[in-house]
Amino acid sequence: MAQVVLREVVKTYGNLYAVNHVSLTVEDGEFVALVGPSGCGKTTTLNLVAGLMPISGGDIYIGDTLVNDLDPKDRDIAMVFQNYALYPNKTVFQNLAFPLKMRKLAKPDIERKVMEAAKVLDIVHLLKRLPRELSGGQQQRVALGRALVRDPKVFLMDEPLSNLDAKLRVQMRSELKRFQRDLSATVIYVTHDQLEAVTMADKMAVMSGGVLQQYDSPAQVFDNP
Ligand code: ADP
Ligand code: ADP
Repeated sequence: MAQVVLREVVKTYGNLYAVNHVSLTVEDGEFVALVGPSGCGKTTTLNLVAGLMPISGGDIYIGDTLVNDLDPKDRDIAMVFQNYALYPNKTVFQNLAFPLKMRKLAKPDIERKVMEAAKVLDIVHLLKRLPRELSGGQQQRVALGRALVRDPKVFLMDEPLSNLDAKLRVQMRSELKRFQRDLSATVIYVTHDQLEAVTMADKMAVMSGGVLQQYDSPAQVFDNP
C-alpha cells in the first residue's frame, strides 16, 4: 500500500510558487530523501505533509486518508527537527512519555512503550538524565525516541542531523538507517547534503525552484543528473 501520495501539490506565497504542482508516491517502508538547493521548497513540502500550513492546491494522502484538511495531530505522522526541541526541565523518560501522556495512555502502557523505544535507540541508561546532561547525538536519539513512541505511520524529518559535528553525523546516518530498516518505517527526509541522501535513501526527490525535477533511486539520479 502506498503510504504517502502527493498529487499536484501547490503552495503559493503571493506570486511565488514555493511548491509547484509536485506529484510523488512514497511507498510503505520507503526512505525518501527530499533534496535540492536552499529555497527550492523542501521544507515547505514536508510541512504540507505534516499539516503545519494550509495547502494552496492539490491533494495529500497518508495511507488511504485524504489529509488536506486534517490537523497535524490527526495525521498519523511524527516529525523530527534539527533543533531537537526537547523539554529542558524534563528527564529523558519524561520527554519520551510526554506524547503518550497527551494521548492519555495508561501508566503501564506508557512505561512499556518508553522502554521499547529506549532500547531501540540505546538510551536506556540515559532515562533519568536531563537533556543538558546529554551529548548532541544522545539528544538527537531522544528526539527520535519521542517520535518513535507515537507509532506513527510516517516519519517526517527536516535536516535532523545538521546540528551534529561531522563525525557524529556520519555515525548517526547509519544508526538512523538501521532504525528505519528495523522498523520498516516510511520516512521523508529533508536534507541539502547529497551524500547523506545517497547513503540512506531508497529514492531521491530532487527539487529546484518548487518543481520536482527527478524522483528515482540514488544510482539513477547520479547516472542521469
Ligand atoms: P531552512 O533552512 O529550513 O530552509 P529558511 O531560512 O528557508 O530555513 O526558513 C526559515 C523560516 O523562515 C521558515 O519557517 C520559513 O517558512 C521562513 N521563511 C523562509 N523564507 C521566507 C520568506 N521569504 N518570507 C517569510 N518567511 C520565510
Ligand atoms: P528549502 O527548505 O528548500 O530551503 P523552503 O521550503 O523553506 O525551501 O522555501 C521555499 C521558498 O518559499 C523559498 O523561496 C522561501 O523564501 C519561500 N518561503 C518559505 N516560507 C515562506 C513564508 N512563510 N512566506 C513567504 N515565502 C516563504
